[in-house]
Amino acid sequence: MLKRLEVVGFKSFAKKTVLDFLSSTTAIVGPNGSGKSNVAEAFRFALGEQSMKSMRGKRAEDLIFNGSHSAPRANRAAVAIVFDNRPKGTHRPFKIDFDEVVIERAVLRDGTSEYSINGSKVRLRDIEELLAGANIGETGHHIISQGEADRILLASPRDRRAMLEDALGLKMYEFKKQEAEKKLVKTEENIGQVNSLRRELAPHLRFLESQVKKLERADSLRAELVSLAQTYFAIEDAYLAHEKTKVAGEKRDAAERLAQAAAELSAIEERSTTDAEGVKHLDLVRRTEREIERINGERGLLARTIGRVEGALAAATERSTRVAREPYTKIPREDLIELAREIEKQVEEAKTPDAVAAALSAIRKAITAFVNRFIAPTDDLLAEEERTAYALHNEQAELLAKDARFSEELERTKSLLARSREALTAHDETGRELRRRILDLAQAKAHEEGAVAKSEAREYEINLLSEALEREKGEVFGLGGVAAVSYSSLEQLPDEERHAQDARKRALERTKIRLEEAGGTGEDIRQEHKEVSEREAFLATELEDLAKSAAGLRALINDLDTELAKHFSEGLAKVNASFSEYFALMFGGGGARLALEENEESEEEELGESEVELDEPKEKERLGIEIAVNLPKKKVRSLMQLSGGERALTSIALIFAMSQVNPPPFLILDETDAALDEANSRRYGDMIESLAKRSQLIVITHNRESMSRANTLYGVTMGGDGISKLLSVKFDEAVAVAK
Ligand code: ATP
Repeated sequence: MLKRLEVVGFKSFAKKTVLDFLSSTTAIVGPNGSGKSNVAEAFRFALGEQSMKSMRGKRAEDLIFNGSHSAPRANRAAVAIVFDNRPKGTHRPFKIDFDEVVIERAVLRDGTSEYSINGSKVRLRDIEELLAGANIGETGHHIISQGEADRILLASPRDRRAMLEDALGLKMYEFKKQEAEKKLVKTEENIGQVNSLRRELAPHLRFLESQVKKLERADSLRAELVSLAQTYFAIEDAYLAHEKTKVAGEKRDAAERLAQAAAELSAIEERSTTDAEGVKHLDLVRRTEREIERINGERGLLARTIGRVEGALAAATERSTRVAREPYTKIPREDLIELAREIEKQVEEAKTPDAVAAALSAIRKAITAFVNRFIAPTDDLLAEEERTAYALHNEQAELLAKDARFSEELERTKSLLARSREALTAHDETGRELRRRILDLAQAKAHEEGAVAKSEAREYEINLLSEALEREKGEVFGLGGVAAVSYSSLEQLPDEERHAQDARKRALERTKIRLEEAGGTGEDIRQEHKEVSEREAFLATELEDLAKSAAGLRALINDLDTELAKHFSEGLAKVNASFSEYFALMFGGGGARLALEENEESEEEELGESEVELDEPKEKERLGIEIAVNLPKKKVRSLMQLSGGERALTSIALIFAMSQVNPPPFLILDETDAALDEANSRRYGDMIESLAKRSQLIVITHNRESMSRANTLYGVTMGGDGISKLLSVKFDEAVAVAK
């Protein structure tokens, strides 16, 4: 699967160097300091190693060829690893659709790194994910650096666990879990935001809802008004139309009858006044009648004037007595002004020529007296009052005399009328019948005149009603809209009492008042309410969605945890089986085992339970890994007590066990065999061969035994120019080169 390594400008590899990995085991040999470990580090570098320390540098610059007295320094170090990505079985090793995958990293002197996959720039994270998917983890368990074979032994239980998980290929679950957790945090934040938006919106929405409810009440009132109005107006229209026709008919009939009576009457009068004598008599009768009428009229006016003068006299007399008794009677000034005005008005009304002139002047005097007496009081108020009363007395006497004269005149005229009528009757022998008829006709005429007048009054009334109805329609239109005045007219007036319509009218008025109180149509409020409730509904759905996705994420995290735990414990069991086997093989007996660390804190935790409760299950799952060894024939338990060689053997056994259970695509062993004696070198060689069946091996070694197990051998040398050079070598050459 590993095809090629291309290095340029990286550490001692100043010039482009290509290592082809054509076989399962490749050994890299060369003298000390020639640059072999730099090859292992080139792998680490390209795979995204972030720790400078594990690449034996302090700064990024340390990774770039530094130059020598014969070669200039490089500005950029780049390493590319080329993998064969043709499908193995149903899957491609890397989850991208290329037959070859080139992972490249370059670093510049300013420390910036560039990553690319098949030539496309990517983020480090993309590289990590791609590698994790192909079981090339970031803890670098597949690259065992020089002197670091026992790193896993020296690591903390927690780190050991991370290495084991990585080796078991569980990193993918971790990535997924982290991603889910990140999403969950984001989702919960969003839930919080949506909740606070909803909280902010709630009072406004409540306000709008109450407004809309009010508007709805107004709507139903309006509907009520519309229906009431339609009925009322339709009936009222029909009623008024009906009344109009009725009155018009009545008037027409009365007018007809009136015209008939008038026509007949004038015909009779015409006939009876054709002879000169008759005309003379009739003329006298008529004139006398008019004279009586005139006298009666004037007497009537006079009688009113007398009445007023008498009234004024009585008041003046009363006042003078009152003034005599109580000289300081208080009378409100306004009353007096009012009275003066009233009298003036009466005088103005009584203004007719001759007969009343005297009365007028008398009343004027009275006004003057009043004004002088009350509005501008003087010391001799009483005297003035008496003078007024005296004047009024005279006035009254004069008027009464005049009335007596009228009365006499009337008597005379009346007897003249009787005489002239007698004369007329005598003249007209046949007049009796005719007179009766004339009387009847006159009566009928008066009656019909009355009827016409009544009809006209009624017409006038109906017109007023019509106008009022139109005004009413205008008002109702303003409140209830066009619907209230849109109705079809009735063909017939309903058979009901008039007060039914009065009741409707009252209901209509009540509804109008209530509607006016309820306010306008509030289109803007409705619109805003619609928008705000839509927003609220949107937020509610969003919240629901978010809650669902949060629940989904929690379930996913849970599943991943379960999955992780399951794979971990299965993996642990398998690694243990293998570890024990390799250990026994290396040490010729005994055994070793990985065990989950005892939870030392558990007892303490019980005390501070509430605080750590939540983390507890997680902590249990994340228990570190301890290594227990059982050397043959020795009572050694602690790793610290092992010799350097024993430690190397133990770590090799563990590394191989992990690699066995979940074979990484390749394994780089940088002088892992350095501490082994001949016997152990052979066992090591055997294990390499068995491992090579599953993973590609790159063995950096000085060990002849290890070299003998490799199919391909590269020699690394460094000349005087400080630049590492690579050459393919045969076994015998390799042995020579290694020295
Ligand atoms: P050994 O067998 O002793 O472990 P080795 O073959 O593994 O040796 P390396 O440790 O890989 O050797 O190589 C170290 C060499 O690389 C040293 O000579 C060092 O000067 C050189 N080197 C390291 N970094 C740079 C650099 N940035 N520029 C040039 N040369 C460098």
